[in-house]
Amino acid sequence: MAFIYLGYSGVILRTINFTIGIDVASLLSEKDIQKISKMDLLVYTHIHSDHFNAATAQKIYEKTGCFIAAEQNVYDALLGIVPAEKLIKLQGGESKEIYLETGRIVPSSIHGFHPVQIILLTIEVDGIRVFHGGDSGYSQSIKDLGHADIAFLPTGDPSPTASPEDALEMALDLCPKVIVLFHGSSAQHNSFINRAKSSLIAELIQAETGKVYAEDALPNK
Ligand SMILES: [Zn+2]
Repeated sequence: MAFIYLGYSGVILRTINFTIGIDVASLLSEKDIQKISKMDLLVYTHIHSDHFNAATAQKIYEKTGCFIAAEQNVYDALLGIVPAEKLIKLQGGESKEIYLETGRIVPSSIHGFHPVQIILLTIEVDGIRVFHGGDSGYSQSIKDLGHADIAFLPTGDPSPTASPEDALEMALDLCPKVIVLFHGSSAQHNSFINRAKSSLIAELIQAETGKVYAEDALPNK
């Protein structure tokens, strides 16, 4: 798989069959959106503006006809903007199966720890399990999500709940092969890396905004 990092917790994942955008907020310009040739699913962890922007979601939907899977408050904000049959509500503790022409995408979510309701999730797609931590603090329920092949972990700034310590606890539960650090300062990323050295065996990537990652270390299905 490959991905592009957009800033904050925004990523676009590309697998053999699918393109999935997560927490893209308003990180894509009008021009970027017009250039999107394919988007199967948008996912939103919570309603904060560095994660979700209704106008951007609407424009991407109108360009691509994608499904949108979202936490309750985001779901409510999109009702009436995007057709209900394209909206999927993600509530902590449940899995949804999304069937598309090229196969199936299965998001499973739990409630995280944040000033507003937030969900953390794994997305099973093309045989890969991807974890996305929004900008949440650690929650014991992460254990319920099982293993992840690649984990996107928030280390802090500007989130009041994410931290290098919380990210490390997430990583220890998820045992990912690849860890991508985002939503944090470089000092917080480094703090995570120093802590992780002795306790984790994983490829570590500090996400750089606008960069495309398609490295051999990424699960290659
Ligand atoms: Zn937030």
